[in-house]
Amino acid sequence: MTAQNGLQATSWQEALISSIEVGVVVLDRDFLVEEWNQFMENHTDIEETEITSKSLFTYMPDIDADWFINKCKPVFELQIPVFIIWEQRQYLFKMHSARPISSPSEYMYQNVTILPIVNPCNGLVERACMLVYDVTDQATSKLRIEGLNEKLEAISRVDGLTGLFNRRYWQERFELEYKLIFRTSKQVSVIILDIDHFKKVNDTYGHQAGDTVIKEVASVITQATRETDVCGRYGGEEFVVILPETTAEQANIVAERVRSMTESAVINHDGLDICVTISIGVAQFSEDYLTAMRWLEAADAALYNAKQAGRNRIVIAS
Ligand code: GH3
Ligand code: MG
Ligand code: MG
Repeated sequence: MTAQNGLQATSWQEALISSIEVGVVVLDRDFLVEEWNQFMENHTDIEETEITSKSLFTYMPDIDADWFINKCKPVFELQIPVFIIWEQRQYLFKMHSARPISSPSEYMYQNVTILPIVNPCNGLVERACMLVYDVTDQATSKLRIEGLNEKLEAISRVDGLTGLFNRRYWQERFELEYKLIFRTSKQVSVIILDIDHFKKVNDTYGHQAGDTVIKEVASVITQATRETDVCGRYGGEEFVVILPETTAEQANIVAERVRSMTESAVINHDGLDICVTISIGVAQFSEDYLTAMRWLEAADAALYNAKQAGRNRIVIAS
């Protein structure tokens, strides 16, 4: 950090900036480099003497100049710090990772803070200071945990909250049922259920109460169906059931049982009594459904019609 640039630093400050395990880069408003500390030298193989007074973009061609200039606007114009986190962009400065074996990438994961440096004489932001943090270890652990969670979910068939099959597994079963249908009775129905005005339940009683309601509705579905029916939680408060050996008329009876049991249930959460209703769409398999998804979409369209018609009712796909 040199006096000719108008930035004064005492020798202990210079020593500190030089030895710190964080990249320190100071840029002027034209993005010419004024400070490039030891960390930056070590990780880029570019010496401070070489890059000083040069354009950052000439030496770091991987930085998208238009994007970066735009990103720095709040720093220069509004004196607001800006952050670039690794989840958005793995790195700003393309540098090799210090742990290329354990990291999923050969390049460093970085969090970058860009701070305005105000000239006290005129109150203008004449420079920006970038702090470049190596967060490769942190990012690697997070990515590893995310990967493990995905794998765990993939091997799990059951939804944690309700004990019903999760969406992925239910969908697999549904696809299989669709394939088998051509060799069997073809009298298979699917129903899709959605809790009415559920957002209001969450808003009025809280998310935990909402979860209790979801659990109770799942329990009603289990009670109202047969063991051979395949019940799943399709989304937040949406459920699906495959009913083998069941016509639409028979499925309608099951659906009505679920609907009326739900309507009359009083769900208790933390001393509060909550009542909800559900809307249901029913679709019996037809050869017109060229894929399993088309079949489910027919049930979903019927559900939509049930909502439009005033909710708390069942509509059978025509
Ligand atoms: P509609 O009668 O049209 O279905 O109205 P709705 O308010 O129920 O609308 P929608 O079905 O789109 O609402 C889904 C809401 O469910 C949105 C979301 O906040 C909530 N939700 C989704 N998953 C969960 C969950 O696991 N727990 C809780 N408590 N709420 C959830
Ligand atoms: Mg919904
Ligand atoms: Mg709903």
